[in-house]
Amino acid sequence: MEKKYCTAVVLAAGSGRRMGTKVHKQYLLLDGKPVLYYSLKTFQESELIERIILVSGRGEEDWCRKNIVEKYALTKVTDVVSGGKERYDSVWNGLQRAGREGYVYIHDGARPFVDKEMIRRAYECVIREKACVAGMPVKDTIKVVDEEEFVTDTPDRSSLWMVQTPQVFESELITDAYSMLKSSPSETVTDDAMVVERMMGLPVKMFRGSYENIKITTPEDMDIAEVFLKKKKSAF
Ligand code: C5P
Repeated sequence: MEKKYCTAVVLAAGSGRRMGTKVHKQYLLLDGKPVLYYSLKTFQESELIERIILVSGRGEEDWCRKNIVEKYALTKVTDVVSGGKERYDSVWNGLQRAGREGYVYIHDGARPFVDKEMIRRAYECVIREKACVAGMPVKDTIKVVDEEEFVTDTPDRSSLWMVQTPQVFESELITDAYSMLKSSPSETVTDDAMVVERMMGLPVKMFRGSYENIKITTPEDMDIAEVFLKKKKSAF
C-alpha cells in the first residue's frame, strides 16, 4: 500500500503552572537538553514522518527556532507557529498550518518518550481506523468523587485506560472536527479524541503507548524521566 503523508504537530505552548518553575516544563533540561527536544528528535528520526510543526508559546517562536530546531538540526521542522490560551487553541493553530493531506500526529511536547515503534503502531492503526490514540490500561483503581471528595462511583478497572499522545487522525477529519469545536468552544476538552467523539460522533481506537510515555507535569516527573532516559540514552 502507498505510504501516506504524515505530519507531526508537537505542542509546546503550555504555561506549566503545575510544575511551579519559572521555566516552562517543556524547556526544562533533561540530561542537558530541553524536554521538548526528545520527542522532536524521535519524530525527526522516524521514516514515517515527513514534516513537523512545532507550536510554541506566543513570543517564543524565534527562541525555539534558534535554540532547539537549528541547534539540534531538526530539519523536518518546517514551521514554528504560536499557540493559544487553551491546548485546543494551540492544536487548531498547528492544524491550520498542517493542511488536509494524509495523517496528523498530535503530540504533547511535554512527553519526551514517544518512540519509533509507537509511531509505527499509530500509523498501522490510523490507516484502518481514521482516529486513534495512544493509551495504556490503568494500574490503579480509579474513583469518581463529588465536589466534597466523597466517592460516588468506582468504574470497572478492566475497561479503563489512561490516555496519552500521540493522537493520530486523518487530517481532514480532525481539521473538520476542530473547526466545529471552534464555533462552540468548550473548557472541558482535554484531548483530541474527545473532539472527534463529540463533534463527529465517530469511534476512536486505542493503540498501546507505553508506561514510560509520561507527561512531565509536576516536579517528581523530572526525577522519573531521568531514570527512563538512562535506559534510552542510545536513542538520543
Ligand atoms: O496542560 P497539559 O499538561 O495538558 O499540556 C499538554 C501539552 O499541551 C503540553 O505539551 C503543553 O505545552 C501543550 N499546551 C499547549 N497550549 C496550551 C496548553 C497546553 O500547547 N494552551
